[in-house]
Amino acid sequence: VFIAPAHIAAISPYQPGKPIDELAREFGLNPDKIVKLASNENPLGMPESAKRAIVAAIDQLGRYPDPAGFDLKRALSERYDIDQAWLTLGNGSNDILELVGLALLEPGSGVVYARHSFAVYRLATQARGAKHVVVPAVNLGHDLPAMLAAIDEATRLVFIANPNNPTGTYLSNQAIEDFLAQVSAKYGTRVTVVLDEAYNEFLEPQQRVDSVALVKRYANLIVSRSFSKAYGLAGLRVGFSMAQPQLTDLLNRVRQPFNVNSLAQAAAIAALKDAEFLAESFEVNRKGKAQLQTAFEQLGLTYVPSFANFVLVKVGDAAGMNLELLKRGVIVRPVAGDGLPEWLRVSIGLPEENQVFINALTDILTKA
Ligand code: PMP
Repeated sequence: VFIAPAHIAAISPYQPGKPIDELAREFGLNPDKIVKLASNENPLGMPESAKRAIVAAIDQLGRYPDPAGFDLKRALSERYDIDQAWLTLGNGSNDILELVGLALLEPGSGVVYARHSFAVYRLATQARGAKHVVVPAVNLGHDLPAMLAAIDEATRLVFIANPNNPTGTYLSNQAIEDFLAQVSAKYGTRVTVVLDEAYNEFLEPQQRVDSVALVKRYANLIVSRSFSKAYGLAGLRVGFSMAQPQLTDLLNRVRQPFNVNSLAQAAAIAALKDAEFLAESFEVNRKGKAQLQTAFEQLGLTYVPSFANFVLVKVGDAAGMNLELLKRGVIVRPVAGDGLPEWLRVSIGLPEENQVFINALTDILTKA
């Protein structure tokens, strides 16, 4: 019997999307016919430019990766006009979220985040024996005034996801800036705000928060970004953060020295420079979103208008619906664990994948 600290024993693990092979085995389905719209991955797969960069980098694998990630940071620094001393690379942006928890929390610290937001905020909090303060959502999105009011003496961290997962909701630049201004006026750098922008690239350019400008203005802000979504590199695990050097330095103290592997670094540089792939990802997502949302309207289903690469749809008995979809070879994401037992989250796929899902959904609803 292992004796774990109570706060560790209390954690319920992250529930990942069901892998294709597992479903194929369970239901005796042909894995090639299964459509997976469960993990907000890029339906185009990875960019060819990143594949070429990986092949070119293969010979470096006998050595450790660059622990400072110099080339990738240089590329990011040019792309975002931000000094390298403000950047931290992560093994996925999950790693960044964990690093923030490691660097800033201790048992008894408080962490504020919204109900129905990304599951890792809870995990990063619990792993440190910190207390979570989960603020009720408005219209399934973040209620920033209520989050501000929830900050107390113990609070060290606030997590904000924009767009949010699993709801796909969005906060404006103005709303975020107002929040930051009030938090820093009241609490200085005692409370750090994590602005999680994993889905940023799916926003229309005019909707995007100028997070680099915000980071330059607010010493208590850390912005995290991901290469897993629009850049198509989920399997490689790369993310990064931007924050002022003092905060960045704290993250660096708890970061594993070789947390981003050589292939991931090389591929991320290529993907970052591949404007064509990014534009195509954006277009596929924009069209797929319209396809799904139109289908939901025609089926009379309520959905949350999405700002990301997935749509949250209300189906009533989501567990039952999920099972019926699985039997038809369609994997989506139940979100009961996020407090949304009547909803399913569907990642936006290629047009034909979306259609397979829509057909299955229509079939189930008309038989019910
Ligand atoms: N933040 C949000 C809001 C997410 O939805 C995800 C992925 N599900 C992540 C962070 C982490 O993504 P990754 O570690 O692949 O960068």
